[in-house]
Amino acid sequence: MDFTMPEKVKVITDMMDEFVDKELIPLEPEFMNNSFRDMLPVLMEKRRMVKQMELWAPNHPREYGGMGLDLVEHAYVSESLGRSPLGHYVFGCQAPDAGNIEILYKYGTDEQKERWLRPLVEGEIRSCFSMTEIDMPGSNPVMMDTTAVKDGDDYVINGQKWYTSSSDGSAFAIVMATTNPENPPYLQTSMIIVPTDAPGFNQVRNIPVMGEPGTDYTGHGEIAYQNCRVPQANLLGPEGHAFVIAQERLGPGRIHHCMRWLGICKRVFDLMCKRASDRVMTPDGKTLATKQIIQAWIAECAADIQAARLLTLHSAWKIEQFGVKEAREDISLIKFFVANVMQNAIDKALQVHGGLGMTDDIIIPFYYRHERAARIYDGADEVHKVSVARRILRGYEGREVR
Ligand SMILES: Cc1cc2nc3c(=O)[nH]c(=O)nc-3n(C[C@H](O)[C@H](O)[C@H](O)COP(=O)(O)OP(=O)(O)OC[C@H]3O[C@@H](n4cnc5c(N)ncnc54)[C@H](O)[C@@H]3O)c2cc1C
Repeated sequence: MDFTMPEKVKVITDMMDEFVDKELIPLEPEFMNNSFRDMLPVLMEKRRMVKQMELWAPNHPREYGGMGLDLVEHAYVSESLGRSPLGHYVFGCQAPDAGNIEILYKYGTDEQKERWLRPLVEGEIRSCFSMTEIDMPGSNPVMMDTTAVKDGDDYVINGQKWYTSSSDGSAFAIVMATTNPENPPYLQTSMIIVPTDAPGFNQVRNIPVMGEPGTDYTGHGEIAYQNCRVPQANLLGPEGHAFVIAQERLGPGRIHHCMRWLGICKRVFDLMCKRASDRVMTPDGKTLATKQIIQAWIAECAADIQAARLLTLHSAWKIEQFGVKEAREDISLIKFFVANVMQNAIDKALQVHGGLGMTDDIIIPFYYRHERAARIYDGADEVHKVSVARRILRGYEGREVR
């Protein structure tokens, strides 16, 4: 395996790095101190510039207007874009739309693709993914209260979801609901496309998360599905196959998160090193960078980040070569490993900045608050660790080891 960045990707990431530095990082103070909705006009203008540069939707299919990069190529791109919290949104490859695009592309009917997929890739609309329920453990989603019952040509959906991220302002949700309670547990649930203006789709609130009220794309919706009625034609994939499709969605989705987190690692690592180099600590001009403990943090973070990068690239390569199923263990490994590398890097960068690190004058505290969730969503650390350990241990059953 050779993970040298291909020349084509180098050209793309150089352009993206320049755009992030010149156009997005200067917007961050406004982003941190205003509602996302208020920023939409300026962000739409940036999106227009990205489209003109032909850098729009790097990972999405060419036939729908994306650049069609493969997963390894997208890993490099995503690290560049992840250096700003606005990067993925402005380049049209943000979660949760990215995952929804993948499953619509793979499982959508021609009609669903025209109505939902095409405008989604073009950035004309947004979407959300509605799986987690308030009263049920998201870590064990076969326990699901939301039901979709057939009535004439429709499904009638009832249930209470939360953390339907980005529901505020979305055109539709992909909802997971029990349709076949008579089936074995993993074949009871279906995915259904629910337009957010369907009768009975009720956004209760945006849940405040770590001090952020959230609006529009940055909101995390609580949704009450109250006799919510949609045509049966909105079923996505075969009935009862939500968990099969979810594996398809969550595998690359988890990799996408890791790739973005590497961008965050890079950003906070750069800020940490710069601060350590500039901060004069003694009258004779010695900087923080001369302290051995800070040097150790820098070396350790550099090693951790490079390990996280190589593991992520390897997992992306494995998915490309052998498919999601073969790469399941690798995906679980990187999901918890990279999240923790990132959290440690953010924490150390904050510490090096001292009191400044606690202020919203810089980006680090935003990441500190916002990215804590990385160890919870798309499978909590513990769930992935247990899953990896079980697979590893299976290989030792009945095996002689000397
Ligand atoms: C910012 C954010 C965005 C999100 N976006 C979405 C979204 O867009 N769509 C959506 O549907 N959901 C979303 N979620 C929900 C997320 O997927 C769930 O929170 C997650 O799956 C955990 O489920 P839970 O909250 O019900 O916790 P629980 O399942 O109750 O688990 C609680 C804790 O128990 C521990 N635990 C769980 N299982 C095990 C185990 N087997 N062994 C040991 N310990 C265990 C873990 O520490 C875990 O954190 C989001 C969550 C956050 C925080």
